[in-house]
Amino acid sequence: MSLHSTQKLRLLNPAGCGKKTPQKREWRGDGLSQGLNPQMTRRLNKVALLRLLHIHGPKSRVELASSLGLDTKTLTNLSRELLGLGFVETAGRAMCSRGRPREMLQLSTSKLNAIGLHLEEHQISGALVGLDGSIRERRLLHLSGKESQHRLKDLVADMALRLSSAAQGQTVGTGLTIPGVVDRRTGLVVKSTHLPAWVGVNVATLLDGVRKGPVQVETYTAAKALAERWFGAGIDVDDFILLDAGVGIGCAVVTQGHLHMGQGHMAGEIGHVVVAPDGETCMCGRRGCLETVASLGAMLKHAGLASAEFRTRPWELLAERLHMGDKGVRRVVENAGRSIGLVLSPLVGALNPSRVVLTGDALALDPLFTRTVCDSVTAFTLPQLTRDLTIVPSRLGQDAALLGAAVLGLQSLFDV
Ligand SMILES: [Zn+2]
Repeated sequence: MSLHSTQKLRLLNPAGCGKKTPQKREWRGDGLSQGLNPQMTRRLNKVALLRLLHIHGPKSRVELASSLGLDTKTLTNLSRELLGLGFVETAGRAMCSRGRPREMLQLSTSKLNAIGLHLEEHQISGALVGLDGSIRERRLLHLSGKESQHRLKDLVADMALRLSSAAQGQTVGTGLTIPGVVDRRTGLVVKSTHLPAWVGVNVATLLDGVRKGPVQVETYTAAKALAERWFGAGIDVDDFILLDAGVGIGCAVVTQGHLHMGQGHMAGEIGHVVVAPDGETCMCGRRGCLETVASLGAMLKHAGLASAEFRTRPWELLAERLHMGDKGVRRVVENAGRSIGLVLSPLVGALNPSRVVLTGDALALDPLFTRTVCDSVTAFTLPQLTRDLTIVPSRLGQDAALLGAAVLGLQSLFDV
């Protein structure tokens, strides 16, 4: 296992035909099509082609046909359709070792956007995000906390309208993140401890009359995993665990390229896994949950720093103390990292992922935080399971959830 940084967007096989793709996995149209009707086969082939260009960058039609396991005629028809839709564009010609230069195809990253909306207690942020993960337009609205539900809905609709107006090219979808429980069948926010004013709102129809199509919704942590999968540390692997540590602690599991949601859409709730059966009482009523050791509140409490000053800008001040050599803070951070590793270890054992991506405000305590989590996973897990495992901090920063919200919208592009 190793610690290493990853690039924001890593194209594994940049332009250049005739080169062998270094990745072992490929999307193959023939494999996908077995047992499916022609319409479904065509749709899956389109998704596979778009995904291939997203991960690997420009490719010639010959390379695409080879990678997808499609014949030349099928690939030509597919690419013609996607060029017509504006999803794909030509990217010049590249020389090959044999034959004539071949025309390259790439995703129309400059023409395709999605809107991401991120709802928080004191603010609403929104962004127009391109297919390459670039934020092309950004909006931020501070809230007083006294806004009515009706007013909040109007504010979000107005923000989406402004972002949409700023778009050059096609805006393919809208996504939104909210902490809480959303009924996936109806789109209704059923419960939200942090944003009670949103309970009862149907987020799917939030932008009716403003934009076409439903608003896709996810929790913060699930959205962050999608952002890593598309633009960050998870772009080159199909199986990874995202660990989100901050005020609360949660995780998201990506298997075979897809988020694992669980039957009740509750997968990833690891903050209340018990790590110390005789430990402190948790807000959930049990004793010794991970959040009683490794959440922000627990760290401040155990370091004796629960003052008003630390409530205002906690991570910054904790990081300052750490850099100043405060042994108490160091001990608390190490204990938090060790406990997180203790919970990650059985997940690594059960799922055998390629990577663990750490995200959340706790990264302010790096490199100690990430190093301690890494050491802990190593100590508590079979060496065979950690030999090829990498544990990396996210590089998407504070925009991770917002980018993930936009990915919810961009995903509709892969659902043609
Ligand atoms: Zn608990």
